[in-house]
Amino acid sequence: MLVATGRPFYKLFMFKPIILPGSSSSLASSRKAPSPSLSFRVTAALLLIVPVSQIFISLILKTTRKIPSNVSVSPPKMDQTQPRFVIQASEAESMAKASGLTLTELLPSLVKSAQTLARPTISKFHVAAVGVGPSGRIFVGVNLEFPGLPLHHSVHAEQFLVTNLSINAETHLDYFVVSHAPCGHCRQFLQEIRGAPEIKLLITSEENPEFTPLSKLLSHRFGPDDLLDKELPLLLEAHNNGLSFLSENYNLPNVISNGYTVSDKLKFAAFEAANKSHAPYSGSPSGVALMDSDGKIYKGSYTESAAYNPSLGPVQAAVVAYIAGGGGDYDKIVAAVLVEKDGAVIKQEPTARLLLQSISPECQFKVFHCNSGV
Ligand SMILES: [Zn+2]
Repeated sequence: MLVATGRPFYKLFMFKPIILPGSSSSLASSRKAPSPSLSFRVTAALLLIVPVSQIFISLILKTTRKIPSNVSVSPPKMDQTQPRFVIQASEAESMAKASGLTLTELLPSLVKSAQTLARPTISKFHVAAVGVGPSGRIFVGVNLEFPGLPLHHSVHAEQFLVTNLSINAETHLDYFVVSHAPCGHCRQFLQEIRGAPEIKLLITSEENPEFTPLSKLLSHRFGPDDLLDKELPLLLEAHNNGLSFLSENYNLPNVISNGYTVSDKLKFAAFEAANKSHAPYSGSPSGVALMDSDGKIYKGSYTESAAYNPSLGPVQAAVVAYIAGGGGDYDKIVAAVLVEKDGAVIKQEPTARLLLQSISPECQFKVFHCNSGV
């Protein structure tokens, strides 16, 4: 029985995405901004979630520690103009405090709302992952799918979450909660984080959800320890790949197309992303920067997995940055730059072009090549 009678708990977390043009609901049916009637329907749908969230909090509380299940939460004042993919530490702390929970106990109650931000345009299967790192900030990840492209272009919620951490310079993932059991790729992808076996996760769809170490879900791990020197930086740790532009690339004139210019700012954003790329297995770092029609820039770094296939491309990472940064429909992405190594074993250009062409056909795309000083 779903009746919108409870306190609007979801407002704590993501009231804004209801009207964000990039919400999953708007993308599922159209690339255009949602009509008022659609927004209304989405709002109504979210209102129905409220009692479920409250019931869910009760369930979690009963399984994690014995405190009253009728938790009352006072919504903190939040800037409704910001997207809700990151909750600052002070805000997260006050949310937990107001509900009588610890920070980790708060996480499960945010998952349902986070699922509405997913963009599973093929499967319609909404997945969300909500995690916390050493800074005390809360981060959100959701799954993304791209119609017209092979499924391996998809971004899983856990990959989105880790990329979101990386974009925001969070140095570790300590706890996370996910709506459904992580797939094999994600269990492997997470191994790129130092101390991965000790990361604690909780799966909200389980009957008796509780935090367990990742090692329980992947007991015989293959990971960075098997291939890399121990002193090399792992995912979420500081990287500097020592790249420098080839002189002929550095001096390429800015290209003007569809009314937009590939500015130096965009080029150097991609360069910075490439320098931060985690690509220790192929030695082929790369980065992508996207620019939207308002001139805002979003950058993403290529991230490799020791097992290769779960690696996440730089365009996908930049799309994560675009969505987490409040970006709406993909066709608002008007320019993109890829920076990768000259003569690299791994080349991102063809697949990057394919993905960009698919999600934003008018997007201008430019590639610059680098040398590596490392
Ligand atoms: Zn997965």
